[in-house]
Formats: sequence, C-alpha cells, structure tokens
Amino acid sequence: MSIRMPLMAGNWKMHYTAAEAVALVEELKQGITRFHDREVVVAPTFTALPAVANALSGSPIRLAAQNCHWEKQGAYTGEISPPMLKDVGCHYVIIGHSERRQYFRETDQEVNLKAAALLAQGGKTLDVLAEQLGGGLSGLEAPPADRIVIAYEPIWAIGTGLTATTEQAQEAHAFIRERLVKWCNKTVANQIRILYGGSVKPDNVDALMAMPDIDGVLVGGASLKGPSFIRIVEFQE
Ligand code: PEP
Repeated sequence: MSIRMPLMAGNWKMHYTAAEAVALVEELKQGITRFHDREVVVAPTFTALPAVANALSGSPIRLAAQNCHWEKQGAYTGEISPPMLKDVGCHYVIIGHSERRQYFRETDQEVNLKAAALLAQGGKTLDVLAEQLGGGLSGLEAPPADRIVIAYEPIWAIGTGLTATTEQAQEAHAFIRERLVKWCNKTVANQIRILYGGSVKPDNVDALMAMPDIDGVLVGGASLKGPSFIRIVEFQE
C-alpha cells in the first residue's frame, strides 16, 4: 500500500433507479468499517444523485458524478454542469472514461475542457486514462494534489474479467507518476493518487493494493453488489 490515502471508487454506470441505489448505499454504510484509513466514493447515475446524497448524509462515503459538461449553464440539451453537480453534493466527477470515448465519441479536447471547468470551480476530478497521461490534461496548470485523481484503466481489462498483472499495473502507474513529475513537480506528483481500473474484484484487490504506486481502484461491475464492493473497500494489506 502506498503512502497516499487509498481511494476506493465504485462506478455504477447506467445501473439502478434512485431507490435501488439508496438500498445499495445503505448496505455499504452498514458493511464498511474501515473509513479511517481509506476514502470511499460511489458514482451513481445522475437521476439517483439527490437521493443517494440524502442517504449519505453523515456518512464518510463520498459522492461522484459520472460525467459533466464544461459550461456552467446554457443551451445544451441533456447536459449537466459542474455547479449543478456541486449543488447536489458531488465531491468528485469522473471524466474521460473510455466508455464515453467509445460510445459518445468524447475527445481529449472535451475531457480537457471538462477538467479545466471542474478545477476552475473548485471541484475535484477523477480523470480516467486509457493510456499514459494523454491530451485530457495537456495545457492545464497542475492543481493541488488533492483536487485530482488519475485512474489508469487498460481498455481490454474493462468489464472483460481480464486484469493486468500486478506487475503490469505497477509499471504503468510508475510511468504515469514519472510523467506527472513533468506536469507538476515531484512533491505534488508523489501526492496525486493513481487508481487502477479494469475487472477489479474481491479476489485480486489485495494484490493490486500491495503495489507501491497503486493508490486505489475504480471498480465497475464488482461495485454493483454490496458484499463484493465492501470486500474490495476492505482490502487487506
Ligand atoms: C470501469 O468501468 O471503470 C471499470 C473498471 O469497469 P469493470 O470494473 O467492470 O472492469
């Protein structure tokens, strides 16, 4: 485990009504005991955010949105802005997920605009990278380390049941951290958390979290059931 506070995040993608999402949150609140040395984040659908925020009141579990627009407001039918997400209690916004790039043709330039908008309004971003630091962050001034989390997710590992070996993942994370040093500086780069994503499950989380540059996980499928996500959050060092 690294010196950075581990961040265990569940991306619920397009699953669950508000009532179903609240039921899962209640399970997590009951089941997770180790909040003192790890940060736990859940990212429900937009429609479930207010109900989940309400259910999380008083809990250390933090709320994330799965996407945002870069403008504060305007004629952008179907979009949701960073201030709107902040208003419903979102602490993080996931941007740059490969599913958004694949199915909605989201580009590095758009991810870049979203990152800039979130950082400008004081939000926190959870940037998902398919490769090493790409154009999503280029040209942006490096923010304080606690405002940005990087997730490294090899596309072939997402939702496939295939996971990078712990060595492959560690190597990629160390490489990303080296690139971060060029983007900000060594002190900040050493504080930025880099999460691994791609078929993380209860039976591989312990080995992944034992790697020095893996500071947490971004979990899709295995975050949809209480017992499985609770076991992941409660990884053993
Ligand atoms: C993801 O979508 O970010 C992800 C890692 O999914 P899964 O855990 O299902 O591979």
